[in-house]
Amino acid sequence: MKINNVVVIGSGTMGSGIAAHLCNANIPVTLLDLKTDISKRARDKIFKSRPPLLFDKSKVNNIKIGNINDDFDVVKKADWIVEAVVEKINIKHDIYEKIFKNRKEGSIVSSNTSTIPLKILSEKLSNLDKKDFCITHFFNPVRYMGLLEIIKNKNNDDKKINFLKDFCETILGKGVIVCGDTPGFLGNRIGVYAMQVAMTEAIKMKLTVEEADSVFGRPMGIPKTGVFALYDLIGIDLMSDVLKSFVKELPKNDEFHHVAKNIPIISKLINSGYTGRKGKGGFYRINKNEKGKVLEALNLETGKYSSVKKIDLKIQRVDLKKLINRDDKYGKFAWSVLSKIIKYSSSLVPEITKEFNDIDEALRLGFNWSKGPFEMLQEIGPKNFFNKIDNFEDNNFLKKLHKSKKENFYDKRQKYTNIETLGKIKNTAIIVDKNKSAEIYRFQDFNIAEFTTKANALDYNSMDSLKKATDKPLIIINESMQFSAGVNLNYVMDFVKQKDFKSIEKFIKYFQETCEHLKYCDKPVVSAPSGLALGGGEEVLLQSNFVVSHTNIVMGLVETIVGLVPAGGGCKEMLWRWSQTKEGKKDPDYAPLKVFDIIGYAKTASSPEEAVPLMFLRTKDKKIMNRNNLLEESKNLIKENKQFLPPEKCKFKLSGEQVREKMHKILDKLYQEKKILEHGLEVGKELAYVLSGGKTDLNKELSENDLYNLELESFMKLIANNKTQERINHTLTTGKPLIN
Ligand code: NAD
Repeated sequence: MKINNVVVIGSGTMGSGIAAHLCNANIPVTLLDLKTDISKRARDKIFKSRPPLLFDKSKVNNIKIGNINDDFDVVKKADWIVEAVVEKINIKHDIYEKIFKNRKEGSIVSSNTSTIPLKILSEKLSNLDKKDFCITHFFNPVRYMGLLEIIKNKNNDDKKINFLKDFCETILGKGVIVCGDTPGFLGNRIGVYAMQVAMTEAIKMKLTVEEADSVFGRPMGIPKTGVFALYDLIGIDLMSDVLKSFVKELPKNDEFHHVAKNIPIISKLINSGYTGRKGKGGFYRINKNEKGKVLEALNLETGKYSSVKKIDLKIQRVDLKKLINRDDKYGKFAWSVLSKIIKYSSSLVPEITKEFNDIDEALRLGFNWSKGPFEMLQEIGPKNFFNKIDNFEDNNFLKKLHKSKKENFYDKRQKYTNIETLGKIKNTAIIVDKNKSAEIYRFQDFNIAEFTTKANALDYNSMDSLKKATDKPLIIINESMQFSAGVNLNYVMDFVKQKDFKSIEKFIKYFQETCEHLKYCDKPVVSAPSGLALGGGEEVLLQSNFVVSHTNIVMGLVETIVGLVPAGGGCKEMLWRWSQTKEGKKDPDYAPLKVFDIIGYAKTASSPEEAVPLMFLRTKDKKIMNRNNLLEESKNLIKENKQFLPPEKCKFKLSGEQVREKMHKILDKLYQEKKILEHGLEVGKELAYVLSGGKTDLNKELSENDLYNLELESFMKLIANNKTQERINHTLTTGKPLIN
């Protein structure tokens, strides 16, 4: 069995996402729709998509397009045919009839349906055809969502299902959970229920949209979109269709029906075109008034909009026990929602899956929750949970757990995969150090450092952990979404507020010392990023001996956006990398000018394919499709480098004023053209000062330390600048850069 050629039928949101991702994996794919015009438009949309569906835009032409009438012959050669047309059973049945008449023997045929049971989809197929037909339920956006549910039943050829699972795991990089044919499968059954519970309880308890989203979000380890904003993102009309399908498919006594009842405000919104972000707005909308664009939220009682009110629950990190015991409306809401989700999920074991762990993993991979319901129960503690809950007599799972009096009922993690993941080994590894910002584990003969702050922002403690962890070969890796969004700007601004610039200097020096230590200590250091690796996060990567990068990353040195320059070795390391190129060896000004362009414009890469040409990654760094594999690949590198020797120290020859003048000319032109203002000019000149080597010329040799000092000097000047502080504060309060 092999998959060398795929046809995707239906080029809407999902079909085009699946085609793009196959293309990322270098699998030839043809995208068919009713008309070639439609699939062509879909391909154009893939090209322009943001965040990008493709690792590398130039690959777009690898997606062939066509229509189901003139080009159906492609099905004859396909090893796998994925149906992703509208959710209408008659249309799907017609397509299957045509596919099974034309497909080559043994090829796999699957549907991407999210709601129609396999039994119904395949009811018109012969028993022989049923063997090769299953559901492959991808999540949107396909490139970024880790979950793929494969739904099979007793008719399926298990060998083929296992082969498909393996293909989707290794080649497409998905976390594949094979599940039975029950409505909504795993992810949506619980995920949609959770959303409905959060919404109905919020309405019942008279919470505002903003209040509900601020509780059912980060404080629970759930993405900050919360519930109402997620409704807007998915589409209020689409959610309403999904609910109708659940109501139709689920048995009358299923708890889901209690939360799927028609809510008047939803019908009102849909009927007036307020279908969410794609419509006029939804629970939130952007309104224009004399002050410009304002984000408004819907009042659930009056149906009127008013400016969004920020809710500060004063919660630093996820602490479920504390949250559900809060003596306010937020605590009551959190408990009511969480307890219902735990009750419902556990009532479905073993009916929808024998492994309760699969439900947790489906929520993690398909909804980006940091913990699933059973892990939440474990965190709250069964004893605390049973002290608070009433009436679980009809729930066998909870009854059994209560009777067992087990406080630690949770077994292994990530049972759906054989890969040795970070999530699996954390349970058996020894914690050797822990502070507020990072944890160090010892596993076998190496250490693992995991950052633990919000978006893994870095501070003194993060650096302290890294430094302490190098007594063994070190892997820097994390389970949460982002490798690191950069230095913790709140931490820096707290010192600014106290005018304590000495402490900022101490921190930056320690950051530099740590990065230098990572690069030159006698044990190999491997960084394994996924998600954001920006600013300080990228500097850690740049100074690690090896990088094993997930294909879903965003890398860059973006400090100039807030009016700073990279000061943890980012300027220095980029200069070194570019000076080692053929052009860099010939022309001493080549590397400084290149890096000036990259850092000055805060260029970012959204895949390793884009990161290598910018030299954020080296060609020798590993690029990994399946995030679960990052740890194993990092371990392999450590094994292969038993005789590891640290790199030789770098020496720089920079032309100082000579190249600085060239950079100033570029800045002056941008300033004349009003592309940058005074502050941009100042920041640019500081960057130019660092990258040109300061007061030097080509006869002098600079050490790495000289460059670290230049970075520090410029950073300290800029952090004392009022406009830089204004930029940072703006970014911290709005999450967006200040544009002027
Ligand atoms: P969509 O409406 O965006 O796209 C459907 C496409 O199918 C359209 O381009 C349409 O022209 C095409 N089409 C209709 N009839 C056709 C036919 N006879 N032959 C060929 N093409 C035809 O829909 P979508 O959101 O991409 O959903 C597709 C499938 O994926 C559905 O079964 C849906 O339940 C499922 N799904 C959707 C999501 C999601 O988030 N949108 C997530 C998971 C699964």
